[in-house]
Amino acid sequence: MAQVTKESHLTRAPGGAALPAGPAALRRANLSLVLRELRDHTSLSRADIAEATGLHRATVSNLMAELLERRLVREVGVEHVGAIGRPRRAVALHGAHVGALGMEINVDYIAVHGTDLSGRVLVERRVVYDTMGSGPDSAVRRLGLVAKEAVEAMRRAGAVPAGIAVAVPGLVDVTRGVVTLAPNLYWHDLPLADQLSSILGPLNVPVRVDNDANLAALAEYTSGIAAGTPDLVYLTGEVGVGGGIISGGKLLRGADGFSGEVGHLRVDPNGDQCGCGRIGCWETKVGLAALVRAAMPEQAYGLPGMPVPDPGERVADIARGLASGDRRMMMAVAQVGEWLGLGGSILANLFNPRAIVIGGYFASLAQWLLPHAQDQLQRLVVAAPAAQCRFVASTLGFGAASRGAASMVVNHIIDDPAAIMDPLPRPAAY
Ligand SMILES: [Zn+2]
Repeated sequence: MAQVTKESHLTRAPGGAALPAGPAALRRANLSLVLRELRDHTSLSRADIAEATGLHRATVSNLMAELLERRLVREVGVEHVGAIGRPRRAVALHGAHVGALGMEINVDYIAVHGTDLSGRVLVERRVVYDTMGSGPDSAVRRLGLVAKEAVEAMRRAGAVPAGIAVAVPGLVDVTRGVVTLAPNLYWHDLPLADQLSSILGPLNVPVRVDNDANLAALAEYTSGIAAGTPDLVYLTGEVGVGGGIISGGKLLRGADGFSGEVGHLRVDPNGDQCGCGRIGCWETKVGLAALVRAAMPEQAYGLPGMPVPDPGERVADIARGLASGDRRMMMAVAQVGEWLGLGGSILANLFNPRAIVIGGYFASLAQWLLPHAQDQLQRLVVAAPAAQCRFVASTLGFGAASRGAASMVVNHIIDDPAAIMDPLPRPAAY
């Protein structure tokens, strides 16, 4: 399975028309072009689509007739162009019967975000699960169970999932669907896509796997607080800390897809050992486990015999303590905030982002963390104050990665709509 981002395109002629071989491939490519335009706009007229894609109006009308028949688009009324312009019928992405299931498995939870083709949310939940303490076999079985329940819920809502994408906090070989290394889950060379596919068996839904921060960064760029900001860094705020980097409007993946491992920047050579085995990684200073250890050591991660609470509950406990002025917690959050700013300054020096969007628990505690983090950032970024870069709290919360995973599935469907449309007993008329 090739990695496909929002930007992926077929080769296009200067006029905009696609250049694949054969009439069937041409029709698929043109359907994809039209769907992509509709994904990026709320609604468009046929004339708008013809103009944007470079396709003939008659071709667009033919394609639209097929998409309407297959309920992948819907008529949304009449648009008037200009004061005396002719009324034009507009269409929008529909596909209420086509499901896209996004999932995330992290240290202490599994999250689910299922939508239809237009992005309408059909199922959303978070299941507390001790992934760290379970072996990979049990964790994958549990993930499979949660996936089956989500598929059932989506079917009850009228949508059949056409794809599943799973976000994982670690290095992922997206082509093979293998988790190369997820230090905080103790996973190593785990063929997650194959294993999950075989658990789901008869459902026969294609499974993809990707890095959690990359998927969350896509969600932020598409629909978050800094949506449309072409240069942004997203930071996950879980037990592990990962980064997703959008540069010039594109996700930066690197040669092997392993970029963004910012949690393992060494910031303190005399610090603690990290889940990755190295010493003094940034996440040992700013990860949720570090904050819990400093703010409420009696509930620290990894203590024997302790039940694993929902991460949201842990964070809510800390927020309550901070709101009541608990001195130990104030000191803990100030320290984490300063380390957050220090690491953020390295990222700002490297990537010159306009915004560093902080997710997970960072966002929940933003009002206490950000003053400290922003101070450090201003102090340590070489280009400050000329280059404006601000920390901003994500509004997508713990659901960012699963939301990004669902939109990646939608993007895959739009890139190759044949997968949900064939068999097509039609003459190759386009
Ligand atoms: Zn590390």
